[in-house]
Amino acid sequence: MAIQRRALVLNQNYEPLNVCSVRRAFVLVLHGKADVLTEGDEPLVGAQDSLYVTPSVIRLRHFVRRPHPRPRLTRREVFQRDQERCQYCGRRGGDLTLDHVLPKHRGGPHVWENLVTACRECNHRKGGRTPQEARMELLKAPSRPSTHPAVLFAPYLERYREWAQFVLGWGKSPVPLAIDGADAAS
Ligand SMILES: [Zn+2]
Repeated sequence: MAIQRRALVLNQNYEPLNVCSVRRAFVLVLHGKADVLTEGDEPLVGAQDSLYVTPSVIRLRHFVRRPHPRPRLTRREVFQRDQERCQYCGRRGGDLTLDHVLPKHRGGPHVWENLVTACRECNHRKGGRTPQEARMELLKAPSRPSTHPAVLFAPYLERYREWAQFVLGWGKSPVPLAIDGADAAS
């Protein structure tokens, strides 16, 4: 269903900003706030069965200033960083828990570098100990996830191959020259 498709929103300077529903992207384009750079492969069905092209990548006409995205530190984000894999036994999915590598009651902070995904069994087995004490090894040292678009939007690239050039290419090569008059001033 075209309606479940997502669209990639680029800032005016081509920086990938976020992902929205195709419908939302369509509305932005309709209101002249964005232009379609790449179309999706399925048309969007509108009223009276009229077909519209589905925006797959859109670019905002005006630059949106916003602070650099910081990954939010939530259970979900930690699970996502660890690809839903228990960082001790490597098992994927199931009943996942959040484990403080250095336990909280021993001063272990609630930070990316001290939090990992653990299955319930491993978390229970580890108990209030450090991995060394419990003789359990981490698959890899936990770290704060990168906020580069290539990392942020990586999960989408398998489905939306046409996004790759915008997502992977961001920051690597010179930003394409803006064509709007206002930006060509210099
Ligand atoms: Zn486990």
